[in-house]
Amino acid sequence: MDRIVIIGAGEAGTRAAFALREAGFIGSVTLAGSEPHLPYERPPLSKPLDGAVQMKQICGAEALQAAGIEYVQDVSALKIDPNARCVALSDGRTLAYDTLLLATGARPRRLKCPGSERALDFRTFGDAESIFSRVEPGQNVGIVGGGLIGMELAAVLRAKGVTVSVIEMALKPLGRAVPPRFAGKLHARHEAEGVVFYLGQGIGEITDDAVLLADRSAVPADIVVSAIGVLPDITLAEAAGLTVGNGILTDSFLRTSDPNIFAAGDCAAVAQPGGGHMRFESWRNARNQAEVAARNMVGGKELFGAIPWFWTDQYDLGLQVAGLPQPVHQSVIRPLDGGELEFYLDGGRLVAAAGLGLGNSVAKDIKLAEILIAAGISPDPAALADPGVNLKALLKSARAA
Ligand SMILES: Cc1cc2nc3c(=O)[nH]c(=O)nc-3n(C[C@H](O)[C@H](O)[C@H](O)COP(=O)(O)OP(=O)(O)OC[C@H]3O[C@@H](n4cnc5c(N)ncnc54)[C@H](O)[C@@H]3O)c2cc1C
Repeated sequence: MDRIVIIGAGEAGTRAAFALREAGFIGSVTLAGSEPHLPYERPPLSKPLDGAVQMKQICGAEALQAAGIEYVQDVSALKIDPNARCVALSDGRTLAYDTLLLATGARPRRLKCPGSERALDFRTFGDAESIFSRVEPGQNVGIVGGGLIGMELAAVLRAKGVTVSVIEMALKPLGRAVPPRFAGKLHARHEAEGVVFYLGQGIGEITDDAVLLADRSAVPADIVVSAIGVLPDITLAEAAGLTVGNGILTDSFLRTSDPNIFAAGDCAAVAQPGGGHMRFESWRNARNQAEVAARNMVGGKELFGAIPWFWTDQYDLGLQVAGLPQPVHQSVIRPLDGGELEFYLDGGRLVAAAGLGLGNSVAKDIKLAEILIAAGISPDPAALADPGVNLKALLKSARAA
């Protein structure tokens, strides 16, 4: 086995290419990506420094060269032939592989109302440039979708003096990924910053200067950004006959229904120990899965079991969530200086933790909480709630017990 091809040069694909070398693989590694840039990170796109769009590269051309990774830029994979083990590229070439990694990510869900072609997406560097080059102070921007990306964009645009409206189908923003306590706090902060929310509202039409809601009321909008979520990019996998669902289905080793093809990142739905498959859209998930997939592609037998984790920055606030908080979990609140942690217990066992505070202030506690979660401990809720009790001490006493 000496030829590995990776399709998709985002976080997962690029990390996997380097992880193959770190695992000692000396065969050929080809990384094909459809974007016209060196691989770059998406999170900084919605967190621009000094208002300017950032292109934060994952690696430079020299690093790719030094690692012996052939990077095929601005070229799309059009078709996989799993029997012949080759991939047809948009530049006319065909790449033969022994093992293939699909890291095709996700693409924005599109609005379907009249005028939807006027709405801008927000997924790529090109999208970010197109949004930020158009907005000017005093303009009205309508953001359709009050999820993480829409709310991060709202915060950035308010700082630029733009009038921002967020239109959301659900009755509250951030309902999908963020625990209700912190979703409420972030919502309140946005309102205090002047963001106007239209909640529980469907879209009727997008015109030149407004978003018309389902009840025909008009939200003034010089620019409309659609941030209604993403769909896993499963096109190639599906056409190749791989098993797909809400993503490219893999086993716990990140292997697809074809034993020579793996998948990682936003496109992958990974088998769970309790049954079913889970897809997770986050930067760290993409990296973690890429590393495990790379090691398994070169003979490893590693189960993917990283604790889900993500962060978001809005205004001067940073939120981090580790694990999967559920409404049925027992919640324990720990106040912090300028912030708060919430722990989630299931039958006494710590299964998730979230924190909201200034800047990066909750990072250390969430890191410790992740270690506690991984250790499978059942801490005393009173100790969890007490800011005077060091989380490290809880780990020590649980281990001793
Ligand atoms: C604006 C923004 C802000 C974000 N902020 C955060 C954050 O704060 N915290 C967090 O945890 N996560 C954040 N995320 C999510 C995070 O960036 C993604 O989860 C991560 O990038 C997923 O990596 P990936 O490699 O799986 O997919 P992607 O980054 O989508 O990369 C997939 C790549 O594959 C390419 N591709 C697809 N099909 C083909 C083909 N046929 N041939 C060749 N190439 C192909 C695509 O063009 C793309 O470049 C953010 C995302 C966005 C868009």
